[in-house]
Amino acid sequence: MSDKPIKGMREVDRRRKRVNRLKKTILFTVFFWMLFSLTAIIFLIFKCHALDNKLDKFNDFFLSASDNINTNNDEKRKEPNPDETGDEENDDSSSALNEEDGDSDISEDDIDENVKRVYLTFDDGPSANTDRILEILKEYNVKATFFVVGKTDEHSKEMYQKIVDEGHTLALHSYSHRYSDIYRSLDAYQEDINKLKDLLDDVVGYSSNIIRFPGGSSNQVSNIDMKEFIKMINDEGYVYFDWNVASGDATNDVITKEDIYNNVIDGCKNFKSSVVLMHDANNKSTTVEALPDIIEKLLEEEYMILPITEDTKPVQHISVEKVLENQ
Ligand code: ZN
Repeated sequence: MSDKPIKGMREVDRRRKRVNRLKKTILFTVFFWMLFSLTAIIFLIFKCHALDNKLDKFNDFFLSASDNINTNNDEKRKEPNPDETGDEENDDSSSALNEEDGDSDISEDDIDENVKRVYLTFDDGPSANTDRILEILKEYNVKATFFVVGKTDEHSKEMYQKIVDEGHTLALHSYSHRYSDIYRSLDAYQEDINKLKDLLDDVVGYSSNIIRFPGGSSNQVSNIDMKEFIKMINDEGYVYFDWNVASGDATNDVITKEDIYNNVIDGCKNFKSSVVLMHDANNKSTTVEALPDIIEKLLEEEYMILPITEDTKPVQHISVEKVLENQ
């Protein structure tokens, strides 16, 4: 007689246990999936970041190669042409200004148009090599142009100031120098340049309107047509400079000082006005080693080595005039 309620209670107990097991299984599965998803998300974030860095490195490498190709093509295409490279204004001064004069307040219009000019430019600094580069330039009393990136450590700030104090041109390159960021949109590019401008304003009290696009105006990295960036910075009063002579030091592989020397000296022979691309970076020590020989040879061949100023006629892979013409 008393069997039925006991059986019933056992049945209820078994059900309760089954429901509890089911609950535990569901909870465990949900917890496991949450944990798995979280781990996967964290892993993917890291992976994205690593790939982004790799992409930037690849872009750097690719651009170095294309910079060299661009430059070589330019050299083949363009015969030295005084009209193209000389100042439009022709003045009567019959002799070149003495190199030893090197003061930055001398207008380029005062220089004889027949004088061959070389503008040495150093991208991507400041670096651990900036001091040595400045020493060499000082030794030969030569002024150059530094297209700098944004760095806020004390040494870099000191270098920005030293570049200015020693009469060189402190020009703008990019704050972050990350192609994937700056060429994402016109706003992103502008934001990057403004950040660099503000930094230089803070450190040295002014910032230049002379600019160089990372990868040059002919870079193939930007998804947006570079002409849009050109129009924008032109509207804002910037003047951009590319280069017509590449030292070849942009490559990720180590290039010998002899090759850098030959690239620069052979390259400058093709132009009446040469803008030489070099790099001021920690791993570019052969550039520093080649520099004294390059300067000596250029001076011996009676080139005038000058810093880029607002008077300098720009060398541009995509010329601003053509971009504005086709608007
Ligand atoms: Zn650069």
